[in-house]
Amino acid sequence: MKINAITMAAPATFSVPKKAVEKNPQVTNPIENRFPKQQTNDGSKAIMNYFFGMQNVPSFKGYPCSTGEFVVKQIDNVPCACCGAEMMNSKEQNEFVAKASKAKGEELANIFAENLHKIRRNERPVARELMERATKYPNQKLSDLADKDMDSRKLYNKENLIVLNNVDKKAQELYGEKNKVSKFVQSQKSLIEKNVRNGFGRGTFLANLKKLTADDQEKSQKVLTEAIELPLNENGVAKVIQKVQASDSVGIARRLIATAVMTTEHIHPKSQGGPNNTENYMGECAECNNNRGSENLNQYWQSTYPNMPSATQKYADYISEQIITGKMGTRYDDYMVDLEKAVESESKDAIDLKVLNPEEIDKARKERGLPDPKPLPVKPKPEKSETKKDETKISGSKKPQGSKKPHGGKKPTRRPNIKK
Ligand SMILES: [Zn+2]
Repeated sequence: MKINAITMAAPATFSVPKKAVEKNPQVTNPIENRFPKQQTNDGSKAIMNYFFGMQNVPSFKGYPCSTGEFVVKQIDNVPCACCGAEMMNSKEQNEFVAKASKAKGEELANIFAENLHKIRRNERPVARELMERATKYPNQKLSDLADKDMDSRKLYNKENLIVLNNVDKKAQELYGEKNKVSKFVQSQKSLIEKNVRNGFGRGTFLANLKKLTADDQEKSQKVLTEAIELPLNENGVAKVIQKVQASDSVGIARRLIATAVMTTEHIHPKSQGGPNNTENYMGECAECNNNRGSENLNQYWQSTYPNMPSATQKYADYISEQIITGKMGTRYDDYMVDLEKAVESESKDAIDLKVLNPEEIDKARKERGLPDPKPLPVKPKPEKSETKKDETKISGSKKPQGSKKPHGGKKPTRRPNIKK
């Protein structure tokens, strides 16, 4: 449903440089081929509307913008499209680092407690330990707390038990007190308590849990959402310990949330020809983005984050709300249908999203008496901690923190990044 859109012709004095309206020649991927753009001049109309202050660009199919201009990254509390856990944006990341690196005692413990649900799976056991130490040693700063012995096996086991208890609780809530999921969880807990070598593994546990709950997909997704909070592996936890023990307080704080930071995921991998374009983007935490690499979306989520269908839906619902309430500017009205197409195509229809089309978004606004959104204002300067592509490389903690350069000194603006 191409909207009524822009029937108004631009006044003759307006001319858009030809260069700016050409299609991006690199866009040759299966998503594009399966869902070809219907109006080749949408881009030029949208650009005219954008630059000349006219509104109403609802049918525009996404700018070939760079990941840094993906507005989703500036919004608070966005759930990861892959694992479903809330992510941190760069502003929140900086605030956390500034506060946690200076605080001590109860104050520090409270900062951790508030953010523990955002801290990711291999980092959380370490964060939890530091949080407990902060209460025990009220006069010590983060780097002193991290200096004391930390046993990766002990922290890993402890975290696994915490998560398994949550899975058990959720299973009892969904299936009643006595149920096969809780029984299975108990057997796994005893393996951990006896510290059986190679006795408990995240992948095997998730696969079994998926089978056990297969008869009711809705309940299954709820149980799996609890279960994917398990640490990814003991080795990963050990690496986090190593890093924090070699860092100062700022480095420790930064490392603990490095994987919680929102990144831009190319739904169809860039390495396989996926375009640098909003219609191929979704917000994902660094942990999920880093783990996927360019793996096929289906193989990837089924084994590591089997709750992804409900997580992607949660992401879509959250972003829809931001679009309706005008937090993302006009040009995202088409994003939801683009997201649906891209995800369904990339997952071979295994992830079936329910999203609002631009007309429904418009209707929702009117029903709630909300004004049509305006383009977002131009940002005066780059965000300091904006990390580069997919910022998935967790930087070494010895390096001075917060010294990331803005991309090649290029000034980010709201202007679409059209080069070719
Ligand atoms: Zn994630």
